[in-house]
Amino acid sequence: MSKSYDVIVIGGGPAGYPAAIRAAQNGLKVACIDAWKNFDGSHSFGGTCLNAGCIPSKAMLESSEMFHKAQHELATHGVKLGKVELDLATMQARRASIVKQLTGGIAQLFKGNGVDGIRGFGRLLKDGRVEVTDFDDPSRKEILEAKHVVLAAGSQPVELKAAPFDGDRIIDSWKALELNEVPKRLGVIGAGVIGLELGSVWKRLGAEVTILEAQENFLFMADQELARTAAREFKKQGLEIKLGAMMTGAKTSKKDVTVSYKDKDGEHELVVDKLIVAVGRRPYTENLIEEGSAVERDERGFIKVDDECRTAVKNVWAVGDCVRGPMLAHKATEEGVMVADLIAGKIAEMNYDVIPSVIYTNPEIAWVGKTEEQLKKENIPYKSGKFPFAPNGRAKAMEATAGFVKMLAHQETDEILGVHILGPVAGELIAELVLAMEFRASAEDIQRTIHAHPSLAEAIHEAALGVDKMMIHGVNRK
Ligand code: FAD
Ligand code: NAD
Repeated sequence: MSKSYDVIVIGGGPAGYPAAIRAAQNGLKVACIDAWKNFDGSHSFGGTCLNAGCIPSKAMLESSEMFHKAQHELATHGVKLGKVELDLATMQARRASIVKQLTGGIAQLFKGNGVDGIRGFGRLLKDGRVEVTDFDDPSRKEILEAKHVVLAAGSQPVELKAAPFDGDRIIDSWKALELNEVPKRLGVIGAGVIGLELGSVWKRLGAEVTILEAQENFLFMADQELARTAAREFKKQGLEIKLGAMMTGAKTSKKDVTVSYKDKDGEHELVVDKLIVAVGRRPYTENLIEEGSAVERDERGFIKVDDECRTAVKNVWAVGDCVRGPMLAHKATEEGVMVADLIAGKIAEMNYDVIPSVIYTNPEIAWVGKTEEQLKKENIPYKSGKFPFAPNGRAKAMEATAGFVKMLAHQETDEILGVHILGPVAGELIAELVLAMEFRASAEDIQRTIHAHPSLAEAIHEAALGVDKMMIHGVNRK
């Protein structure tokens, strides 16, 4: 007889593993099946986020920023160093060690919560059971039964026909995090989140970086005033970002890659040593569902779900990057936890309107809620307050005065509708506003909240005051 569970989760990334843990906390018998394969053939839980995404990229961003600061900033503070040298092997070993610690932690959490962590490839069969193909021996298959199945298969990088990955010259974001030599000339296709973060890493470590972006507008999904200021900052750092540049082909040789692209001025060529293609990610749902199952996928491969992540089949759920919505780890996790609670009969819901976005460049970019462009398009009356970091005491002490906080509130109700931050640790600062928006706070609520002095958060306080033209440390233009 096949082994049976209350819940089987397929995928052990930030959508799947929290779903499994919460389901077990809810007293259910749970298995989490995961097939992540590292470059050395080993397995680890944690999916893209822990193994090849959020965590290793932030480790490299932090280390490369240290190197950059040691070279260009410490002298300003009166800290003199001898010759600053890059030890990329140590930097990479640190990155790998952080990943190992965190992915190993998930295996421990599974043990602690009584989740059966299974290494293998899971497939939902049309009769609702789950087939597991062994991780080490694909000829070995096992059938499991479950009352509920949660599909959390995640996503994979989009591959361009004109520039297919070869793992050497033309690489994806995972490979780009693990380079053991700084490329002299680095090309990046796509000035999205990955292009900017990884472009920043290798630029700080010494590469000449050129990013080709098909769209005319930089960071088209962000508030455009913020995007324009960010573009100026990145330009000052020497990141070459070519907008409206559509790649048409890439030819590799033993020593370089010749990238051809088109923009409004015509056809061009760019010769680089490595080319990162970061043009988005796609759901990883091939072979996940047996043909004949009523679970539906859209034309791009996303599993179709409702607001509570239910698929068309009763007791089959899908969460994270393999369903609609932003491809973000925290969105994935909250969906996983919500589903585990719904399965246990608890009340749970997601607030899709209040999901923070963070881009870990320097200055950092973070926002929550609507952009000014969206408010205009939706004819929502709004008022706005904006405060720069330049006069903020803490930002000055940190030598990090670029950027601003912009708050948008409803013209009549004063409810905060969106906040956009370009500046130091914007990704941390945004948490206050996420909470505020979750509680449907008004700009006045932030105005009347005491913010420590000196702190970066005072810029948020001032921006809230600015919404009603009452800034203390800035000029209020009526
Ligand atoms: P995944 O993390 O992709 O996990 C899915 C898991 O399921 C994988 O282990 C996969 O091997 C496994 N799997 C798939 N199919 C099967 C199957 N049939 N059987 C068994 N196992 C299967 N997001 C942020 O919020 N913040 C960041 O800073 C951030 N940085 C990023 C940086 C990079 C370079 C990249 C690439 C992504 C980044 N992301 C970031 C996005 C984030 O990684 C994803 O949104 C998140 O990992 C999605 O979680 P998931 O669990 O849905 O999918
Ligand atoms: P993205 O969607 O952020 O950016 C892709 C960019 O490539 C877009 O600007 C697009 O216009 C451009 N593009 C597409 N086709 C092109 C072409 N042929 N030529 C030139 N430009 C082209 O995707 P990404 O940067 O690959 O990231 C994938 C996902 O991972 C995103 O959804 C993101 O949310 C997530 N992620 C998040 C973080 C974070 O939260 N800090 C970090 C990294 C990745």
